[in-house]
Order: sequence, then C-alpha cells, then structure tokens
Amino acid sequence: MKKDVVIIGASDVGISAALRIRELDQSIKPLVIADNKFPNFSICGIPFFIGGEVKKSSNLAHRKEKDLKNAGMELLLETKVEKVVPDEKKIIAVNNKGTQEIYYDNLVLGTGGVNIEPAISGLELPEVFFMRWMDDAISFDNFIKENQPQKAAVIGGGYVGLEMADALKKRGLEVTVLEFMDSVLTTVNPRFRKLIKDKLENEGIEVILNTEVKNIEKIESGLKISGSNDLKLKVDTAVVSVGTKPNSFLAEGTELAINERGAFKVNKKMQTSIKDIYAGGDCAETLDFLTENYRYYALGTVAHKHGRIIGSNICGKESYFDGSIGTQSIKLFDQVISRTGLNEKEAEEAGFDPISTEITADDHKAYYPPAYKTYIKVIADKDSRQIIGAQILGSYHAEISKRIDIFAAAIYNQMTVEKFSQLDLSYTPPLSSPWDPVQKAVQQLELEF
Ligand SMILES: Cc1cc2nc3c(=O)[nH]c(=O)nc-3n(C[C@H](O)[C@H](O)[C@H](O)COP(=O)(O)OP(=O)(O)OC[C@H]3O[C@@H](n4cnc5c(N)ncnc54)[C@H](O)[C@@H]3O)c2cc1C
Repeated sequence: MKKDVVIIGASDVGISAALRIRELDQSIKPLVIADNKFPNFSICGIPFFIGGEVKKSSNLAHRKEKDLKNAGMELLLETKVEKVVPDEKKIIAVNNKGTQEIYYDNLVLGTGGVNIEPAISGLELPEVFFMRWMDDAISFDNFIKENQPQKAAVIGGGYVGLEMADALKKRGLEVTVLEFMDSVLTTVNPRFRKLIKDKLENEGIEVILNTEVKNIEKIESGLKISGSNDLKLKVDTAVVSVGTKPNSFLAEGTELAINERGAFKVNKKMQTSIKDIYAGGDCAETLDFLTENYRYYALGTVAHKHGRIIGSNICGKESYFDGSIGTQSIKLFDQVISRTGLNEKEAEEAGFDPISTEITADDHKAYYPPAYKTYIKVIADKDSRQIIGAQILGSYHAEISKRIDIFAAAIYNQMTVEKFSQLDLSYTPPLSSPWDPVQKAVQQLELEF
C-alpha cells in the first residue's frame, strides 16, 4: 500500500496534523494509525471520568470515528507500527490480520509518551494502575465498580497524581498521596506548594512527603505498600503517576536522532533528522520560547500546535514552531493552580536576572460577594523589564486559568512591566476591578526594580 501521508498516532498530534492537511489540501487523504481503538480521545479528561464528573468514557472523545472519516482521513486502528524503514520510505504495521508494509511520501510520528515505571516491586499486581490510556481508565473504573475499594494510594504528587487523588476522593475513597520529594507539585513556587498541600489535607487527603515507595505486596485484605521512612501503608488499590517519557522506540535501527531523554530531535518545522519524517507532541522535544533550548513538555496544548505545524508544512505552507512557555492549569477540588514561563531558578540558569513579587488580591470587587482571594506571583527580567513568568492560585470561580493566559500572551509578545499596565483589560465589578489583579501584581513588581 502507498499513501501520501502516513501518521502514526491518533491522538493530539496525529489528528491535529490530519485535520490541518485536510483544511489545506483536500486531495490528500492521510492514513492515521493507532495501536488502540480510541482515536482522538481526551486523555486529559481521564481523572474527571474516574472522579465521576464525566459520566461515560465515550464522552471523552473529541470527535467520533465517523467524524474523523467524514473529515477525510483514513483510520487504521488496533494496529501497531513496529518498524520504520526510512531508506525505503515504508513502515511495517501489525494487527490481528497480519503484517503489512505501507509506503509513504511523508511520515508523521505522533506516538506520544509512555509512563515512567519507578523501581517499585509489585507494579504488575492487578490492583495497581497507571493512568495514561483510555484502556487504563476503563479498567480502573471497572475495578472500582466491581471491587468497591475503600482506600487508595497515589504514588507521585505531580499534577496527574493530584488530579487522580481528587478524583478518587470524589469517588468516595480514602486517599494517601506518597511523594518522594519534599513537596507536591514542584513545578510551582514553595508558597503555592504549601497552600496546595494544606488544601489536599483539608479535603481529607493524607499527604506523605520525602518518602520513596519501594515495594507493593499483595496481602489478604488488599495491598501493603512499604518504603523509606518506615512507610507501611495498607490500601485496596494504588495508582502510579511519576511522569512521562517519550515513546520513541521507532528510532531503533534508523538514523532518526533522539536526545538524551529519548525524545525525537526536531527543528522548528517539526522535521526530524530525516526530512520527510515529522514528529511532535510527547514523543518529541519541545523548543522553549524563552530560553531557546529544547525541553520536554508533555502537554496536550503543545502537541496540538506541533500537529498543526506539521500539517501545514506537509502541505507546503511553511510554518514554524516558536516555542512553548509551559502554560498549564490544574483544578484541584475548588482551587485552580496555573503557571506560565520560567521560575526564578530556571530564569537564572537561562541567563536572565530575575526579579519577582507575590501579591494577594480579590479576584473582583469585594462589594459584590463572593470575592475570592487570589495569590499571584510574577517574575520579570531586570535588564529587559520583560515579564518572563507567572503563577496564580485561587478559586475555580476566579478565572485563574484565563488570567494566567493574559500573562502567557504578554510573555509571548515580550511585554515589559510598563506595557502590561497599559493592557486594556475588561472590568465589571462581579468579575474584576479597574486594575485587574494581574495588573496589580505587575505594578507591585515595578516598584521592586
Ligand atoms: C491523565 C492525564 C491528564 C493530562 N492532562 C493534561 C492537561 O490537563 N492539559 C494538558 O495540556 N495536557 C495534559 N495531559 C498530557 C496530554 O494528554 C499529552 O501531552 C497529549 O495527549 C500528547 O499527545 P500526543 O499526540 O503526543 O500523544 P498521545 O496522546 O500519547 O497519543 C499517542 C498515540 O500514538 C499511538 N501509538 C503509539 N505508538 C504506536 C505504534 N507503535 N503504533 C501505532 N500507534 C501508536 C497511540 O495509540 C495514540 O493514538 C495529560 C495526560 C494524562 C495521561
């Protein structure tokens, strides 16, 4: 079989690339291959399905299979691509009907990430789950329905681990978060980390820090988890979430370059080291907009952009990825934590001279209750006076994620603190103030120069 465009991966990168191709050139019918039967599902929504806020797993489909076909792509599901042979411009794909060779003009690698598996014995036990694919989510949901577990451990206090802790609590379980580091959510500043830990504990979640899980053992009444600091915890189930690494095994035996972390190396056009092979999303490295270094950002937002740029370039519309600033929001119970850009340490390492401030402000005029206390940290570079990072924590009702997006837009447009104050942001008392809290934070920072 020969195809103009073959895309490996039917998730954010793969489908974004295919949709862009169809927008720009209706004569191309991309072939999208996935090794599961869930094309274009929002895996970001898995914690909300487990928590019961999303009622059916099928609701997590961004688009249904028939919508993808109607959009003009061909789907080959439950088919694993086992090898890429760039010299012959072909891939080797295997499914239950056998093995097939598919030739391409352009190939897209959107193979995503895989779970980092920590050195813990017992990860293979049926009561232990990783949360990456729809299969994982459906199996875990069935396990909860069938076995009615009472107690769960979440191993890993990063954002997915904390979203899962929230979900399991909503599902009625007692939850313990086990974290190796001295804090949960180390991507935000120490004050926010403490506020998040307090919040989790106030919601009844036990948080155990500085503790390395070493062993999960099956006992008569569930699982026994043991580790450093004399950890001995009895639970009925455990979720392991300690991070993502690139799924780049298809580089083996090819000249496809990968970095020290295993991510496909790409240029700004998202081409790999082989010109007609593109890669993006969790399997590839990501250019950092501020530092101009390559990093690893396993984020759906980044993957969508990579896919669109790949689609454009395949159709001859030159398109370049400017870089990510790692903008991200997380909802935990009634709180939202958002971040964008660099923290002070990253800024210093990148050669900036960071200066920062933190403020607490009402999200809108307090005379229109309820107003919510909002914590804002903002970082600028002393020399250029440009904003280079921000973090916000506050109520789900306080538009935290859209406020961080104001900072993200400012950083992307290299705005100075003075320009930021000139931004013409909207105001009505139930939603903001004449100076939005983000502007108040930047005006406070201006005084520190
Ligand atoms: C629980 C969870 C919550 C998340 N929440 C957020 C969030 O709130 N915000 C955010 O921005 N990001 C979030 N993310 C990250 C986001 O989901 C990923 O960054 C994004 O899905 C990456 O997209 P991708 O297309 O690169 O790869 P993936 O979504 O990982 O998809 C990879 C695709 O490749 C296919 N595949 C892989 N290998 C092969 C092969 N050999 N042959 C055939 N097919 C193959 C798979 O079947 C799949 O279709 C979350 C991730 C998880 C796991």
